[in-house]
Amino acid sequence: MYPRAYLPLNRRTFVRTAALGAAAVGAGLGTSGCEGGASSERVETLILGSGFGGSITALRLAQAGHRTVILERGRRWTVETPGQDVFSSMRPGEVDNRSTWLAEQQPLPGIPPGRRFQLYTGVLEKIYGNGIDIVCAAGVGGGSLVYSGMMVQPPRDFFEEVFPDEISYDDMDTRWYPMVRAMMNPGTLPDELLMRPEWTATRVFLQQAEAAGYDAQRLLCAFDFEAAAREVAEMDAIPQMLALGSYIFGLNSGAKGTLDKTYLGMAEATGLCEVRPLHWAQVIRQHAEGYSVVVHEINEMGEIIAEKEIIARRLFVSCGTANTNGILLRSKAENGLPDLPEEIGSGFGNNGQHIKARTRVVPDAAAAGFGATQAGPACTMLFDPDNRIAMENGPAPIAGATLIGTGQGIPSGRGRFRWDAAMGKVTVDWEASYDAQAAEAATNIITRLNEVNGGEVTSLGLDVSITFHPLGGCVLGQGVDMFGRVNGHENLYVIDGSLLPGVTPLSNPFWTVSANAERCIETIVREDFGASV
Ligand SMILES: Cc1cc2nc3c(=O)[nH]c(=O)nc-3n(C[C@H](O)[C@H](O)[C@H](O)COP(=O)(O)OP(=O)(O)OC[C@H]3O[C@@H](n4cnc5c(N)ncnc54)[C@H](O)[C@@H]3O)c2cc1C
Repeated sequence: MYPRAYLPLNRRTFVRTAALGAAAVGAGLGTSGCEGGASSERVETLILGSGFGGSITALRLAQAGHRTVILERGRRWTVETPGQDVFSSMRPGEVDNRSTWLAEQQPLPGIPPGRRFQLYTGVLEKIYGNGIDIVCAAGVGGGSLVYSGMMVQPPRDFFEEVFPDEISYDDMDTRWYPMVRAMMNPGTLPDELLMRPEWTATRVFLQQAEAAGYDAQRLLCAFDFEAAAREVAEMDAIPQMLALGSYIFGLNSGAKGTLDKTYLGMAEATGLCEVRPLHWAQVIRQHAEGYSVVVHEINEMGEIIAEKEIIARRLFVSCGTANTNGILLRSKAENGLPDLPEEIGSGFGNNGQHIKARTRVVPDAAAAGFGATQAGPACTMLFDPDNRIAMENGPAPIAGATLIGTGQGIPSGRGRFRWDAAMGKVTVDWEASYDAQAAEAATNIITRLNEVNGGEVTSLGLDVSITFHPLGGCVLGQGVDMFGRVNGHENLYVIDGSLLPGVTPLSNPFWTVSANAERCIETIVREDFGASV
């Protein structure tokens, strides 16, 4: 399904290219000395972060003839042969440090704490907040490495309730969502897999949701289900991972629709986009020629190898919601961007996300087909618009008749990001009252499913204040214009989840993050870039 032609340079080739002076190759502007004797590099257009926002920006700029350099703090994760041992398992006792961004313990709730890790540049970061924690991605391809690929489009009425009036749902519906869909080439879980014993949890979820009167659906999912099927058909050749419910820390079968196979790989294939992994942008400073970015080049253990300065005429910040807010607020606090608009950092929402679990959902787990684990990915959802919520089923490497449901509601309040100078980290302030209605709606769904089908509420350590869907902080029209241009800062742009108004109602966010990125970059290329270089 995903064309291999777009696979990026392999790691060895990349390192060699870098050693030969990738700076000049990619940027086209070369290096020069700067005050203090350290070498600083000049590039025309710099993008921070290689997730959805950064990759879409890079591809559309490349297609218009513009060179970019992408700095990505994490490493490359490329599955060259199905089953290759690239990513960490998610199974309790098997989780290793490839799961975790520079921390001693893995970031997901519900997995028992194992032994402490040696620090590593793994795929998921946990950001500790005041009232809520955030889990987000790290690595070339950003969220596509760790996501479940679920593609859900918010319903029109809820979209119009939370998005600024200037963003037309019709426009999104007819132009920008389809554009992303065509690029991500999603499928739906086929009957052939759904009817297998490994997918019992998904099957039972759909049956029980329908029995309880909900509209339950198999979703579009940016997954290669033929590759997923090969994993179960060729068990001896391809070590099981998806079938065991181990897909969040990355997937060794290559079935996940990661950005290296779509937007980012296509951008690199143009020869106009250079991705530099393990390049961690620290702070931005206004500069006579544009923006200067202090960058730490790190090794896979997170140790600093070199500190660099890159001066860019145009700068796109696409570090994902928490880290985009983090670097902008740090830059303001350290006087690099002293006039950053007051609104930046505000308008954070958790996408109304609440994780719940039910157990003993059938009287006889074995007879129903439940085994020691549940096959992924998460790719089914029930919709309860009257209660302003949808809930996905989250298969996991857990035994028995237990179903995990993640509600996506609509928070009524918004939190705020802060740069914690003492800790040297971004953090966020949040109160439970901001999404009490979403929390209650999620509980009501679980209660109703149990009443109709049997089953009991259980916690499994999942029912904590955490979100995998941080959104906002640089909300369209609040400190940035309707296309992500930062007010009062020529040629400084934000394009990622932080532009969205704290929620993509009743849906997982990446499709909307991406559709909005397409919408923004189309205007920016046309109005700000002018003729191709
Ligand atoms: C476990 C999990 C599962 C998910 N599943 C789904 C799903 O099934 N469907 C869905 O719609 N959404 C899902 N999401 C959410 C989705 O991944 C995000 O909404 C999406 O990735 C946001 O895109 P983005 O461009 O804002 O940022 P990201 O995709 O997060 O990309 C940001 C990139 O910037 C890099 N970066 C950060 N700081 C710096 C820095 N200072 N210097 C250089 N690089 C930096 C990061 O390493 C990262 O690669 C999931 C999220 C998680 C955590």
